Amino acid sequence: MIRPILKFGAPELETESTPITRFDQEIKTLAEDMLETMYSAPGIGLAAPQVGVNFRLLVIDITGGEEKGHQIIFTNPEITEQEGTQEAEEGCLSIPGFIAVVERPSKIHVVGQDLEGNPQELDAEGLLARVVCHEIDHLDGILYLDRASFLKRDLIKRKIKKLIRAGEW
Ligand SMILES: [Zn+2]
Repeated sequence: MIRPILKFGAPELETESTPITRFDQEIKTLAEDMLETMYSAPGIGLAAPQVGVNFRLLVIDITGGEEKGHQIIFTNPEITEQEGTQEAEEGCLSIPGFIAVVERPSKIHVVGQDLEGNPQELDAEGLLARVVCHEIDHLDGILYLDRASFLKRDLIKRKIKKLIRAGEW
């Protein structure tokens, strides 16, 4: 089931999410819904707070479903190692219509669990590392805007306020 994606301004997006301790059907359904929501958006990553659920769960597919075998589902992900930096423009399904340059690590090692609660780890670099960092930030209530330059952040926030006032957000 496709769930509505919350937009900037929703309190869930600025809330630190809770670790998952019960790997029940509710979590599996949530992950399925998040994949469907991400693919239909379309997007390449989605974190549970973006659909209004403050649990530490994320889904990623950097091919947007174009190629098989790229689907990643992580519960309770944590970056344990990182290396180098990369800069590129980033967007977010919760901040549609805007992009900003964000610095991220170029390589990361992530540990966490799958939907059954089994340990899971991942080495990521390039775009995948960027997306994983972006989605883990969501679980901590951090948006990419918080990591953009002050000027860019200010500009985007002012434009969003205007859209909200016009009833177009
Ligand atoms: Zn996002």
